[in-house]
Amino acid sequence: MWADIARGEINAANFSLNDKWVPWYNIHKLYAGLRDAYLIAGNDKYLELAERFSHRLILDPLISKENRLTGMHANTQIPKVIGFQRYAEATNNDKWNKASEFFWDAIVDNWTVSIGGNSVYEHLHPPDDFSSMVSSNQGPETCNTYNMLRLSKLLYLADPGNKYMDYYERALYNHILSSKHPEGGYVYFTPMRPRHYRVYSQPHDCFWCCVGSGLENHGKYTEMIYLHDNNGIYVPVTRRWKNGDVITVSLPMKTRIEYLPDGSDWASILHGPVVLAAVTGDDDLDGIFADDGRWAHVAGGPHYPVDSAPLIVSTDRDFSNLIVPTGEKPMTFRIPDLIHYPEGNELTLVPFYEIHEARYMIYWPVITREELDRRVSGRKAEDQ
Ligand SMILES: [Zn+2]
Repeated sequence: MWADIARGEINAANFSLNDKWVPWYNIHKLYAGLRDAYLIAGNDKYLELAERFSHRLILDPLISKENRLTGMHANTQIPKVIGFQRYAEATNNDKWNKASEFFWDAIVDNWTVSIGGNSVYEHLHPPDDFSSMVSSNQGPETCNTYNMLRLSKLLYLADPGNKYMDYYERALYNHILSSKHPEGGYVYFTPMRPRHYRVYSQPHDCFWCCVGSGLENHGKYTEMIYLHDNNGIYVPVTRRWKNGDVITVSLPMKTRIEYLPDGSDWASILHGPVVLAAVTGDDDLDGIFADDGRWAHVAGGPHYPVDSAPLIVSTDRDFSNLIVPTGEKPMTFRIPDLIHYPEGNELTLVPFYEIHEARYMIYWPVITREELDRRVSGRKAEDQ
């Protein structure tokens, strides 16, 4: 019948089409039935497989709120937990939902640096020791943050809480946005090591994991820009609305100092949710545009000594009041009275996501004036 109709042979009567009884009606019933079976009854075979795929070695400790994650490969675990949370959603499984929340808290509270990324050499270091984070050229991997955004979104939808969207914003604008070269390539590792740099993929030479997920990343900038339920969008405003009402939003952007989660004397500077960093130069950017080498995703150029890196000299751990806008460009700051960098250039703080093809400072060693004097006189004595 459909072949006849396609040829233009149409014989329509009151209850039939080409002598077939109410075909549109029948098709409607068939599809409505299939749709309802899918929506109401689900199809359990995929759910069963999902449960079998769940890695109990990772899941069970999370259910009993035990953090056994140290030493594990970071980005292998995050997608497993995305799976646990999807399973929790599909089955209303509160235990698995709580396990996913526990994992998210553990990663964000114990292993996450200011840009929203985690891991060193792709692994979770001991959470009370970030020394590898500030010395390695293999800092946070972009894929981990891509997956943490997906997990944050799922957990937020399950139980809306500011912490998930605060993290989402931080990770999106500081790690994800910074991970794309304005003219092309994608970044794999973002070292926190003072005065190190990042390398970028090239379209015909590299297709790392962080290129694959990296391609998806940059469609996310408006994805979670606002959130809503059935009654309205989520903002902190309750009132009886009338036509013509206007809301003016001012964001209380403050300059803040955040230390590494292990409490060590390494500080990162933020203005509002935006991580500020300083360019220290553009020398020795070996392999900045990666070739197809096995280790080309790692910034393998010289490690500049941490000893002669810029320092922040402050007795007060909160030195945010000494960070001053340049007045020349928005989101640009100077810290003239704080930085000790005798052999270096004058440093300006700008959003980290603006920095490309350069060596940079995100985390700064903070020492007191007395400690600095001790070090300087110690060096003089050595010279003598
Ligand atoms: Zn990756």
